[in-house]
Amino acid sequence: MTSNRIIVIGAGPVGLTLSLKLAQDGVEVCLVEALADDNFLEQVPRAGTNHPATLEMLDHIGLYEKLEPRGIIAPLFHYRERADNALIAEFDHGHLKDDTRFPYVLQCERIKIVEEALALAKAHPNIELRLATNFTSFTQGPDGVTAQVTNPAGEDESIRGAYLVSGEGARSIVRKELGIEFEGFTYPDRTLNIEVAYDFRKHGYTERNYIFDPDEWSNLFHWKGPPDRWRVHFPTAPDEDEAALTRPDALQARLQRFLPTGKDFDIVGTNLYLVHQRVAQKFRVGRAILAGDAAHVNSPIGAMGMNTGIHDAFNLAEKLTAILRKEAGDDVLDRYERQRRHVALQHTQAQTIRNKRLLAEKDPAVRRKNRDELRRTAEDPKRARAFLLRSSLIESLREAEQIA
Ligand SMILES: Cc1cc2nc3c(=O)[nH]c(=O)nc-3n(C[C@H](O)[C@H](O)[C@H](O)COP(=O)(O)OP(=O)(O)OC[C@H]3O[C@@H](n4cnc5c(N)ncnc54)[C@H](O)[C@@H]3O)c2cc1C
Repeated sequence: MTSNRIIVIGAGPVGLTLSLKLAQDGVEVCLVEALADDNFLEQVPRAGTNHPATLEMLDHIGLYEKLEPRGIIAPLFHYRERADNALIAEFDHGHLKDDTRFPYVLQCERIKIVEEALALAKAHPNIELRLATNFTSFTQGPDGVTAQVTNPAGEDESIRGAYLVSGEGARSIVRKELGIEFEGFTYPDRTLNIEVAYDFRKHGYTERNYIFDPDEWSNLFHWKGPPDRWRVHFPTAPDEDEAALTRPDALQARLQRFLPTGKDFDIVGTNLYLVHQRVAQKFRVGRAILAGDAAHVNSPIGAMGMNTGIHDAFNLAEKLTAILRKEAGDDVLDRYERQRRHVALQHTQAQTIRNKRLLAEKDPAVRRKNRDELRRTAEDPKRARAFLLRSSLIESLREAEQIA
């Protein structure tokens, strides 16, 4: 073998947490990222609800203590009815106090996570960080992998390593070069995200709210500022024109229909995106491995994409470390695929599809039944705990452990 290091493509939350975990366990990493120091923080806002099991992992690599002061600790979340803003059910992560050291979520956006994780990666002697470097292709053989990159000077360069991990996100070149199907579907409607500096708590909302409505379901989340911001998601019709949808008066009108205050909201940002439900048919071919959005993408309802990706990173880091220490054969990577594909399909994808259906249900009888069911679940401590174990992905980790 010419090199024992791991090449990680992409300094998103998955590539960074994977690199930090490997490096802290004594493995050398070359981390390749297309963005440069001067534009790294200019990324579209997304993600930010960090579930308890993820917080344990972030704590393990020294990231939690950096993020907690920049985020909001949120033990509660609500299901609410839009029409009369009635509370349907309140779930309290306190029911998980015997299951985790973190019986709450941390509302802390992806951009803050990658900023803090990048600083840790820069400081770690086992990580060679290659910013402003574009990964373009790779080859693999029995002894290792070679990644082709374009470096900041615009020159083509080869990087050798033992394994290559794609943390490139949904458009993974590695996945495409391997010809791996990204199986699933794309929702026809797009999601409109509006960021508003306004304290919704005075209307009874909590930090995370999932809002039922047969015509225009929505989510409402609180993020730490300054200024503190709330992110409201709405579905939009597939044929609606983007410019018309995001005109200031159209955004204000939509927000007034959601919560009539009679005064313009202070809108601090907006974006419109397509939502996909896709899982790669394989997570590994030889020495090339997919993790995070490169391997699976899902609807953000339930806040699971980044969390699932970080769980992939930890699972994979342990296995790659064991292989390099010669404590395991590389067939453990097939177990990585079995475990994490199962989670992506049976937990992350299944739950986020269910979550959207629940919020958007049109049949009044089914809506009533769903509301009653949620209310009963939240009121019964045993059932509430079981529900929270699933929604916070703890159950997915426990189930994956049982997969040989
Ligand atoms: C609106 C929205 C809200 C969301 N909310 C949540 C949430 O609350 N909780 C949650 O768990 N998930 C959420 N998600 C999903 C979450 O953002 C993603 O799952 C997560 O960012 C995936 O992380 P990643 O590291 O796999 O990929 P990415 O975050 O996409 O990072 C990929 C990195 O690779 C780099 N890269 C790509 N190609 C190359 C190349 N060729 N060469 C070098 N570098 C390259 C990119 O520049 C980037 O830095 C949300 C998504 C959206 C759109």
